[in-house]
Amino acid sequence: MKTQLALPITKVQNSRLAETDFSNLVFGRTISDHMFVADYKDGAWSDMRIEPYAPLSLNPANATLHYGQSIFEGMKAYRNEDGKILVFRPDANWKRLNESADRMCMPEIPEEIFMEGLTQLIDLERAWVPTAKGASLYLRPFMFATDDYIGVKPSDTYKFIILTCPVGNYYSKPVSVKVETTFTRATEGGVGAAKTAGNYAASLYPARQAQKAGYDQLLWTDGKSHSKIEESGTMNVMFKISDKLITAPVNTGTILKGITRASVIQLAKDWNEPLEEKFLTVAELEAALIDGTLEEAFGTGTAATIAHIERINVNGKDYILPKKSEDAFSNRVLAELDGIKYGQLVDEHNWIITI
Ligand code: PMP
Repeated sequence: MKTQLALPITKVQNSRLAETDFSNLVFGRTISDHMFVADYKDGAWSDMRIEPYAPLSLNPANATLHYGQSIFEGMKAYRNEDGKILVFRPDANWKRLNESADRMCMPEIPEEIFMEGLTQLIDLERAWVPTAKGASLYLRPFMFATDDYIGVKPSDTYKFIILTCPVGNYYSKPVSVKVETTFTRATEGGVGAAKTAGNYAASLYPARQAQKAGYDQLLWTDGKSHSKIEESGTMNVMFKISDKLITAPVNTGTILKGITRASVIQLAKDWNEPLEEKFLTVAELEAALIDGTLEEAFGTGTAATIAHIERINVNGKDYILPKKSEDAFSNRVLAELDGIKYGQLVDEHNWIITI
């Protein structure tokens, strides 16, 4: 890859690579040696650099701590059989980060800074990309307010950082979900479509209640009537009913525009699978569970790619989904996406950048 932005790089004195147990990685716990950092002040991004991963010094009056102007992204880099590093659709994450920035009154990050910061950091950390089958390097770009000011207003200064974390094979066992009809993740006019910290903080309590009741995740419904399925935990959600795939549209501002979701929709179109972007109502979901027309239900997201749903609780009643065949859509689309991400299949849509 040609390098355009000259980034000063300060390397660590002692790498933690040798002491890292790659056979025992807990998602998000191990951060690699270096991070990319840029600062925003006086209306421009400056001081782009790569430096050792280390604690930041924060003033207790830091605006993010009080008013939560904080956004982030998540994507993965994979090692192919030739040792090259492949990143899946980072341009889509860059665009979504800027959509989040706009909604949260934060500055956009230029494509060159995002992509050069990301690719040069990955290049420096290539030894941190795991070699085990199904493992990857999780990439976490994020931006937060850095004004030291106690008062509700958009900050004038920000920091943009990219961290990388080696993660193991994220096989998602089939999950149990509960249709949530009391709590609300997002409402029209709110910030549901932004990948902003507060959305995740707000989801913790309802998710914990569901976990206490024996479910892995919630199926969020719309905030007004709680009658339409929106998304699930940190995944978009798809249903296959009477041979047709159904997933919620992402134009209401209440649902995160998942990049896995968009990729699955593209593949379904390539394969001429019947698909409709529409809200499935809770009543329709329950009817399809009762009459046996619900063939598959699954979440889509960067962490698991596809998470099969095996049990759904609707209005207090548990329904078990039918067992899936090898050639079920969710299995085929998972195999296809994995093949593209690890460079074993042709990347027809130019989703991969190689480092
Ligand atoms: N919805 C929410 C709320 C999420 O946090 C995520 C994870 N980013 C997704 C959906 C799935 O998005 P993606 O496929 O881009 O990971």
